[in-house]
This record gives sequence, structure tokens and C-alpha cells, in this order.
Amino acid sequence: MTAKSTSQAVAIPRALTVKELADMLGISAIEVIKRLMTNGVMASQNQTIDYNTAAIVALELGFDPEEMAAPVAAVAPAAVEEEDVVDDPASLKPRPPVVTILGHVDHGKTSLLDRIRKTKVAAGEAGGITQHIGAYQVVMDGKRITFIDTPGHAAFTAMRARGAQVTDIAILVVAADDGVMPQTIEAINHALAAGVPIIVAINKIDVPAANPDRVKQQLTEHGLVVEEYGGDVIAVPVSAARGDGIDDLLESINLVAEVAELKANPDRAASAVVIEAELDSSRGPIATILVQAGTLHQSDAVVVGETSGKIKAMFDDKGGRVKAAGPSTPVIIMGLETVPEAGERIRAVADERLARQIVEARRREREAAEQTDHARVNLDTLFNEISAGKLKELIIILKADVRGSAEALKASLERLSNDEVKIKIIHSATGPVSDSDVMLAEASNGVVIAFNTKVDPSAKKRAEVSGIDIRSYNIIYQVLEDIDKALQGMLEPIYTSVVDGHAEVRHVFKSSRLGGIAGCFVTDGTLHRGSNVRVLRGKEELARTRCEGLKRFQDDVREVQTGYECGVVLSNFDKFQEGDVIEFFHEERVR
Ligand code: GDP
Repeated sequence: MTAKSTSQAVAIPRALTVKELADMLGISAIEVIKRLMTNGVMASQNQTIDYNTAAIVALELGFDPEEMAAPVAAVAPAAVEEEDVVDDPASLKPRPPVVTILGHVDHGKTSLLDRIRKTKVAAGEAGGITQHIGAYQVVMDGKRITFIDTPGHAAFTAMRARGAQVTDIAILVVAADDGVMPQTIEAINHALAAGVPIIVAINKIDVPAANPDRVKQQLTEHGLVVEEYGGDVIAVPVSAARGDGIDDLLESINLVAEVAELKANPDRAASAVVIEAELDSSRGPIATILVQAGTLHQSDAVVVGETSGKIKAMFDDKGGRVKAAGPSTPVIIMGLETVPEAGERIRAVADERLARQIVEARRREREAAEQTDHARVNLDTLFNEISAGKLKELIIILKADVRGSAEALKASLERLSNDEVKIKIIHSATGPVSDSDVMLAEASNGVVIAFNTKVDPSAKKRAEVSGIDIRSYNIIYQVLEDIDKALQGMLEPIYTSVVDGHAEVRHVFKSSRLGGIAGCFVTDGTLHRGSNVRVLRGKEELARTRCEGLKRFQDDVREVQTGYECGVVLSNFDKFQEGDVIEFFHEERVR
């Protein structure tokens, strides 16, 4: 087939099968498969390819490809997808800061959260201190501060991995007697990756072994320079046990919040994030949510993920009933149809009908998206992203067996940065690759490098689901070589062949037009015309080629199933003998 001289526009969906593309372009699937092969993509005709791959073939054939708009646009009125809403600066009003407490285990995160709440929630307030709802608000100098009551960076980054940036300020708790520990460093890196300002709370100053100066020095080594040392990080000595320094800490939060000029528009449909959710035996699905913009009202229709609902009742963190909740306010809501997940966005919409429409549109969009490959950064596709100008930074999370190799690798990797792409190692530590590392990769769109270290099974599973690239190595130069190759666009994708079925040759026919035809019996699987094949005689592989034709009696067929007889014609091979086995297979790309 020759390329057409004038280019003809063709709208190609985000994902389609090779066969569909062939039909669209008016050529045979075999032709498409050939073109794909010359571009290094092995695909059978029923395999799904993405737009970018299809567009290459279309371009080669002289078409002018264009990506078809996502189906969701037709269903959900664009205006209701709130992400598009840009608030008029004049409508923005100051809002309380939302604070998360991070730090190493046992350094006093929970104690500090408890202490702050006890100190600041006036005893006379409705219900007093009642329940743990995942977030609470206190008042300091007449200003409200919202605390997320799930300490630790795992929860923090899990939110971010889902696209929800909840936290405005991170409090890094470091025990004055223990100093900077592995999770302290992890927490610093997670907060920095999120671009969130950090206030250090040096806790346990009441214990005799407390050494706040040592903590400050250690922090400097990890890039957090406190004010005393000429930096701009506020460090506050506290004792969660005795209550020292709590007011200082809260004042510091107010100070940092003021500088950050946190604002939101309270006068529009609410947009909130789910902090915690569960199924309550008597009240049905209940969720603690944090309103981020707008004001949520009782009886509002809402959508969250692929569920809709109507707010039946709302409660504040003291268990009191409320009718409305504005920006940075945490509330418990009732009235959702199912239990949402932490980190999911919840939005108020005009009415329940619209809510259902949006949910339906989202479901369809997800189904369409599931057809396509993950759009995550992957070393194999890196070069395309670079040349398309989509990628300016390659974000790496580095785990190694020992500190020495982590440091050596980090330094060498960073030197690979070039004019197009900067290599940024946002977290490097020792130990196996954990869930938290994968979440950080999800949140930052990074890749994980495991050097001489294992990958936790749950982290592996998570990475598979979310499409995060985890690469394991034992030799430093191979890491460097791979990353360098990826930057140069030379990294060969890895393929594995997947066997689709076998045909046993029972008779050999001769045709003047086609040459030797193998009369076969399909012993297992399904054979497809156009598939890759290997011809096996005993243990010996005689040929590796393609199946040109499949026949049932006189008819050309596309596929033949187990238990049937068929005629097989291969390209460039016809020296069949009875007893030969033709193995049908396709290549699948592995990460
Ligand atoms: P988390 O794992 O970071 O949430 O730490 P916890 O809040 O559970 O505290 C760990 C331990 O340290 C507990 O036994 C606390 O009682 C203790 N602890 C927390 N803060 C202080 C403090 O300021 N002084 C002293 N002496 N002990 C504290």
C-alpha cells in the first residue's frame, strides 16, 4: 500500500484494537500489524493500542490523525466539572490552615494531637471532646486551625496519590532525645515533594536526655535549616506530655499561615475531600470530609467518585449538628449511597439528577481509560514524553540496601541530568520498597529504583495497579546505564511472548498458488490469522514467522479454536512434515 498524496483527517479514539484501526484506515489488519512491527510494536489484531501508537501508523499512511474527544464530554456538562472553575480573586476570603502532623514512630505525633485538642477545645463547647472523626479544629488568638487527626506521612501521601492536596502546613515532630530517624527523613521528603511548608516541633523536651540542639543540627544535614542557623524553618520546643510550648506552636502555625495567604471562595458549590469513611451499622455510610472551597449545606446533592448522594445530616468535630460548612471545615456527613475512599473528592452539584448523570459519565470515562495503558512515567516511554515536551523532570524514589550505595547512586544519578530533563531524587533511603514509596511515586509521578533491596509484596501489587515503574538492580552502572539510555530514548522495551495455542500438522497439502499448506488439528488455545508463529519439530525450532492464512474447508477464517481442524499457511515457510507443531503466540510488553 502506498501513502496517499493528500492527507485525509481521521479521528482516532484514545484506545482501539488493531482491527478497528485497520477498518478506520481502510486497509487490512495485516498491513497495520506490519507497520506496527516496523515501529517496534508487536500486536495481534485483537490487541488494544493507544492513540499515540495508532497515530504513527496513520501518519505513515498519509492520514492526518486527530485524537477523538473523550466520551465523557458529551455526557457531563463541562461547566459542572469544578476543576475548571477559576474563582474570581475578589471572591476569595481567608480560610484556616489545614495542618498534618508527621514524624518518626513514637516521637509523639498522637500525643501532640491529643494535647492540642485538650488544651484548645473549650470544655463548655457542645458535647466537649467527643469522638475521633479524623480531623478537628481549634482556635488560637481568635483564628481557627484545622488539624488532620491521622498522623504520619502514609496517610498524607495516600491523599496526594489520589490527587488531593489537603495539607497546607506540615508539623514535623522530632523527639529531642532520639533525634532525626529514618521516618523523620521520609516525612521531610514527603512534605517537600508536596511543596508544603514545614514547622518543626521538637518534642519530649521534658526528658533528661533531651538535646534540641543536636536535633537542629541533624535537620540542617537534611536540608531543613532552622532560624537560629540562618534558615527560615521555625522550630518550636514542646512537650506533648506536660503541655509546654503548645501555644508557641499554634502561634507559629498562624504565622506561617498568614504568609501563605490561604484563601478560598466560600460562596459557591462545595468541593471537599474525604478524610475517613466507614459503614455505620445504624447510620449507613458516613464520611469525615474536609471542605476545601465553597460551602456545603444540608440537603445538597453531591457526587463522590462513582457514587452520588444527598446530605441528610452534618456534624462537626464535637458531635454537634451543623447546617453549613465552609472552607477548611471538617464535618461528618450522612446520606451517601456507598462508602467513599479517603482522598476522594466530593462535590456539591445542582440537583440529584445531575449528580447521577455525572456519576454515569465518570463510570464510562473510567471504562474507556481502562482500555488504554497507564499514562504514568515509565522508563520505556520516557523518551517520548521528553520529546513531546511533557517531561522536564524525571522524579526518582531510590531505595537501597545500605546508606553508602544510596548516597553513591544518588550523586551519580543526579549528574545524568541534561538540558532537557533534570533528574530529581525526591527520596532516598535504605530498606525494601514499601507502600509508602509507591504512593510517593504516584503522588509525584515518579519511578522507583530498588538497588540491592527487595520490594514489599504489597508495594509490588500497588505499583501494578497504579502503573508505577519499579526497577530492581544489583549493579550501579546498570542503573546509570538504564537511566541514561532512557534519557537518550534508547531503552528497548522488554517483551515477553505469550502462547495463544498450538496446532499439530496432520497432513501436508500442496497448492500451486500458496505452496505448502499444513492441515492441522488445534490441540489447545485459539489460533488467529496474522499471529506470530514458531514451527517446532520435536525440540527444534524450524522457523519463526507469521500466519498468513487460516482455512476451514475452503473458507478463509480469522480464528480457529481448540478441537477443530484447519489449514495453515505461513509466510516464508512451507516445508511442513506430519507431526510438526505450530505454536501461535503474541508479544506482550512487560514493565
Ligand atoms: P507517635 O507514634 O508518634 O504517635 O507517638 P505517641 O504519641 O504514641 O508517643 C509515643 C510515646 O512517647 C508514648 O509513650 C508517649 O507517652 C510518649 N511521649 C509523647 N510525647 C511525650 C513528651 O513530650 N514527653 C515524654 N516524656 N513522653 C512523651
